[in-house]
Amino acid sequence: MAKSKKAKRLDELAAQIRVCTLCPLHESRTLAVPGDGKYTAKIMIIGEAPGKEEDETGHPFVGSAGRYLDHVLEGTGLDRSDLFITNTVKCRPPKNRTPKRLEVDTCTSNYLFEQIELLNPKLVVLLGSVAAKKVLGVKSVNEARGHIIMHEGRKFLVGYHPAVRFYREDLGAKVKEDFALLKREAKKL
Ligand code: SF4
Repeated sequence: MAKSKKAKRLDELAAQIRVCTLCPLHESRTLAVPGDGKYTAKIMIIGEAPGKEEDETGHPFVGSAGRYLDHVLEGTGLDRSDLFITNTVKCRPPKNRTPKRLEVDTCTSNYLFEQIELLNPKLVVLLGSVAAKKVLGVKSVNEARGHIIMHEGRKFLVGYHPAVRFYREDLGAKVKEDFALLKREAKKL
């Protein structure tokens, strides 16, 4: 079957991301990470930035945070093939530092916002403060989590990034709560 215009444009964006030099993050990356998943997914997950293993493989959420994502998805009745998964910025920041405003603004205005428009998911899950602040303009994850936020006609859910539990063990329970909410909302889609 011929590819839809939408699928072609998403492929084109992924190809542009792989060779992108629009912000300084291209200098230290190994591979850019455009995102993986179904172009017809009802749920899109957006994290912060690729980590070491993502940078080496070119795929999102394949490192330890990714394994934890698989673990928390287990109870939700969803698996990765039901989702489209990407990050706010597509190239790994040096030593996993937080991406800078210029990097976030450049990457989202060139890629992420168009990916969201094209995929047109029913629910967008924003994991971590970088994604939540940029996409919804919220002050913090803690302020925005725990409920569905309607924004520009779409449902959004904000949660802690699964990696947070590696340095804040106390937040592990909150990550589980966030995915429990995702499970309840996924059933309604
Ligand atoms: S982070 Fe985004 S804008 Fe920056 S070089 Fe990578 S793909 Fe391009």
